[in-house]
Amino acid sequence: MSKACQNAGRSPDSVDILAVSKKHPAISIRTLHGLGQRSFGENYVSEALDKMAELEDLPVEWHYIGPIQSNKTRDIAEHFDWVQSVDRGKVLKRLSTQRPDRLAPLQICLQVNIDREPQKAGVLPEQLPGLIELAHSLPGIELRGLMVIPKPASSTHDPRPSLAAMNELFRGQLDMDTLSMGMSADLELAVANGSTMVRIGTDLLGPRPD
Ligand SMILES: *Cc1c(COP(=O)(O)O)cnc(C)c1O
Repeated sequence: MSKACQNAGRSPDSVDILAVSKKHPAISIRTLHGLGQRSFGENYVSEALDKMAELEDLPVEWHYIGPIQSNKTRDIAEHFDWVQSVDRGKVLKRLSTQRPDRLAPLQICLQVNIDREPQKAGVLPEQLPGLIELAHSLPGIELRGLMVIPKPASSTHDPRPSLAAMNELFRGQLDMDTLSMGMSADLELAVANGSTMVRIGTDLLGPRPD
């Protein structure tokens, strides 16, 4: 990470690391937490709730980064600190209503489908303004930024234009501070293109057990 920041001419503390712990056991989270990692990302609600129960004694910041089914929003609103994978108004409204008053507002990133892949979650860039306006109007949630899972690099696809497009989209939003972009395979490119949070699973915890 510090090398990626150095190469991009950025300060190392300008990018946060979210440790993606899906499919890894609670003990791995405890170990990384002991080394100073505070924020963890999970993709499956019931798996995450089990680990949270096991780790009740640890002050973990929990991020939900997986697909959101409407019938899971209550569990998400009651147990997570952040949700990065919001891509529709119905889910925003449910999270807003279901966030308990005793908790701080749920921190929200809107997921953008920058490569317009039909099978992928996320809003299209032209749908973003409407969703941003809705997010600002709802209590119990706080809009922090944008999240993206770009189409991976291959012999026929250069992901850089999409990363640059996300950076531009993000810079145009004056009230956001988070661009969640970059995973193990594209961390360097993401940092070079303005990411403020990388989501790292494999390179921190090893391959996911099945
Ligand atoms: C699994 C996952 C990651 C981490 O991917 P790695 O390649 O293991 O670093 C990041 N973001 C999301 C949304 C994921 O589902």
